[in-house]
Amino acid sequence: MTHDHEELLRRSEEAPAVAPEPALPRSPAVTVEALQRSAGNAAVARMIQAGGLMRQPAAPEAVCSPADQAKLDELMSTTYTREDFHPDTGAGLFDAVYAPGDGLLTITLGIAFEFLNGDPADPTWVASVGPDNVAKYGPEKFAWTAEEILNWKQNAITTVTGIWQRQYTFFTTKACWADTLPPVNVNIEIVERPATGEGKAHFVTSVTKWPTEPGIEESVTPPGAGADQSTARFHEQGSDPGGIESPDVNDFNTTTTERAKYNEVNTDNPGTIRFPQNASEPSAADKTALQKFGQTLGKPYMPPFPVTLTGHSSSEGDEALNMRLSEDRARTVSNEIVGAGAPNQPAVDPKGEEGAAPTAEWRRVDITVGSFRSSQTTIGHEFGHMFGLRDQYPTADDGSRPVGTPVKHSALAERLIPGQTPILARDNEDIMSAGGVVKPYHYVTFLEVLGTMTDTTNQWDIRPAVQGPGDFPVPTDDGTGTAVV
Ligand SMILES: [Zn+2]
Repeated sequence: MTHDHEELLRRSEEAPAVAPEPALPRSPAVTVEALQRSAGNAAVARMIQAGGLMRQPAAPEAVCSPADQAKLDELMSTTYTREDFHPDTGAGLFDAVYAPGDGLLTITLGIAFEFLNGDPADPTWVASVGPDNVAKYGPEKFAWTAEEILNWKQNAITTVTGIWQRQYTFFTTKACWADTLPPVNVNIEIVERPATGEGKAHFVTSVTKWPTEPGIEESVTPPGAGADQSTARFHEQGSDPGGIESPDVNDFNTTTTERAKYNEVNTDNPGTIRFPQNASEPSAADKTALQKFGQTLGKPYMPPFPVTLTGHSSSEGDEALNMRLSEDRARTVSNEIVGAGAPNQPAVDPKGEEGAAPTAEWRRVDITVGSFRSSQTTIGHEFGHMFGLRDQYPTADDGSRPVGTPVKHSALAERLIPGQTPILARDNEDIMSAGGVVKPYHYVTFLEVLGTMTDTTNQWDIRPAVQGPGDFPVPTDDGTGTAVV
């Protein structure tokens, strides 16, 4: 491939190239936010670790008062335990053990699983398959085998533990404790316990087998005040062949037209942004419209709807340069939207002069909004209820939890987590909404038990757990001389 001077003289859309305006200087915080949106949190963490963006001020020499020192000594010489903890969210029930010297908080849920066979005459299931199809499913499709029970139980416990444990670390906000008191990791233990008698389970949990998704609600009943036991109900769908091995995953699809509030995205979508010849800078009026659209996408009750920006150019000028021009146009639009608060980086789809005529109407970017899709391992969500969290997906607009209203664990999170903003009912990727993501505030009942049993409430903050060297899988030799990770 060669480039000569002639190449440099060629033009996109046959107009003189204009030097881009210099970028405005940005503050470090704005840079971090923009980088988080464009490159993801991992990149930001790496940059901060490398000292590229912000430097931590040197920690002042922290000297404990006699009272603080006495409390620290108590913490470091005690193992704290709490049985049947009732979080202040009005739901949940679990045991906790905190060993400060080890930096470990272990949350234990005692479960009595009761495996039930589905009822082929159940009206909800019959309606879900249609009465004419009931005969297709023999009685064995409703009946657990001993092997299925074992496999399902093992997979369910592994799944729930993987979703919930060691996602975040608590650390003391008391400066004079920081050097001595280790950050607190959270271990989750799900143990089988008897339904009655000594050491009985926190939740008696039925698991019913069905040949197909029955459409029956799965639920956890909040334990009454002072109660030491409650109940839960799961409904699991078998697969053919293979029976039931793993807990069900539910898929969700949320559209912008589903609710009046979500439809604001469509109302505020400018749809098409037009550009002058050989230019990728929108007009002032279009910038204002794009900023409003970005703000709407970023409203706290809005699902993270995916946005696609399709860039075009007219067919005049050089094809490769027109491709780049169409991409520049889409990226300029993207920067306006993200800068105004859109939670996700839009997908940029440059088309260049593909299908275009040599006319002004092709100098444009088309903006389309897709539906928000998510999937969830249902029992991961249900175990969240056992840990004391409440639902975050919105009910009907005239229901008990309309879009944009604080959810029932919001007040506790705002009280215990520094800087916590209200947690609002919305469809999103959160484990207590429609997805599988555990957020820092989902650790709030663990933080509550930690503060309560040690009498250190409001002396903690939370950050993502750092995986130490010991947490990486150790390569093993499989006998062929090749390390298997
Ligand atoms: Zn729920």
